[in-house]
Amino acid sequence: MFGVEKSTVIDGVEFEEESESIVVSVRPRKGANQRCGVCQRRCPRYDHGEGRRRWRGPDLGLLRSFLEADAPRVTCGEHGVVVASVPWARHGARHTTVFEDTVAWMATRTSKSTLEVLLRIAWRTVGAIVARVVAEGVAARDPLAGLRRIGIDEISYKKGHRYITIVVDHDTGRLVWAAPGRDRKTLNAFFTALGESRCAAVTHVSADAAQWIADEVAAHCPNAVRCADAFHIVAWAGDALDQVRRDTWNAARKGGMSVHARDLKGARYALWKNPENLTDRQQAKLAWVAKVNHQLFRAYLLKEQLREVFALKGEEGKQLLDRWLSWARRCRIPSFVELGRRISKHRQAIDATLDHRLSNGLVESTNTKIRLLTRIAFGFKSPEAMIALAMLNLGGYCPPLPDRQAA
Ligand SMILES: [Zn+2]
Repeated sequence: MFGVEKSTVIDGVEFEEESESIVVSVRPRKGANQRCGVCQRRCPRYDHGEGRRRWRGPDLGLLRSFLEADAPRVTCGEHGVVVASVPWARHGARHTTVFEDTVAWMATRTSKSTLEVLLRIAWRTVGAIVARVVAEGVAARDPLAGLRRIGIDEISYKKGHRYITIVVDHDTGRLVWAAPGRDRKTLNAFFTALGESRCAAVTHVSADAAQWIADEVAAHCPNAVRCADAFHIVAWAGDALDQVRRDTWNAARKGGMSVHARDLKGARYALWKNPENLTDRQQAKLAWVAKVNHQLFRAYLLKEQLREVFALKGEEGKQLLDRWLSWARRCRIPSFVELGRRISKHRQAIDATLDHRLSNGLVESTNTKIRLLTRIAFGFKSPEAMIALAMLNLGGYCPPLPDRQAA
């Protein structure tokens, strides 16, 4: 009724006029009382603590609701003097578990302002709740258990001034670890948490071409094949294409072809997007590029064919990559000649990706979703709060909405 379960006794319900609240007096049923707030072990009572306390629950219509109870302290052999556990709230929480689960559920689905207004709660409180829910989830299911094929990526936030390093599990599709920073020290913390025997069980590690990742993986995972993330390789081709578009545009502008230059500027998205996602207008734009600018269109085809390499995968993908490399060598477009060299240099890791058919989609979508979350989490002061929100959402730790089936 008030989001309390069988181990809670309701002693009374009162309407408190000045605060327009329903206050429900409760206590833990015998057997659920005098337990350590940290480990739930039964312990002797220490004192009455700070007396009666309130935990906010879900609103009842326009009224706020609170559970009110004594909050005695107990002496735990392991945790010392701590506030006793209560069945209706997490340890250290000022809100009931039902309320916190609602907050967590909404935090993965709605905007910061919607959540603040609808639940009448401050954003920093949301951050603390998300951290508590994730910590509880991680204690119940270790995200680092059973890892075999992982992906490592770095994601920028705060307009590219700050970075977090993330690790995803290719087999479950989950985010399993994240920490601020992008260097060997950061990644070393992950492998230390994983431990020697679990590091040895890792068979595949996909990552971008960063040397610090390669070095750290080599130092910790003796049995892992290193694979190049297709997502990053295809992004290189996008950059090379954009270079060609900019050069062409500059040349047209300097040559007094202002209309041509303007049209080229408008072609950016048509060239950049995947062809299956083009609008009719963008398709027309692409056809125009094909007709009037052969070099730019060739650059576009080079980018698309490289994407096809990773869509094909396996032996076919490797054969297409051979043909692509010889095309890139002869294409006389400087940025693609350079890209060809770069890809040759990382050929071994790229072939491993094609051989083991690691999905490009997982790292790409995690990358996109975290970028989105960094915007939602903009109000959080610390990267840790943002990481907790990412783990809640992408690590599979979001609780179902109370009293509903898990979605
Ligand atoms: Zn304890």
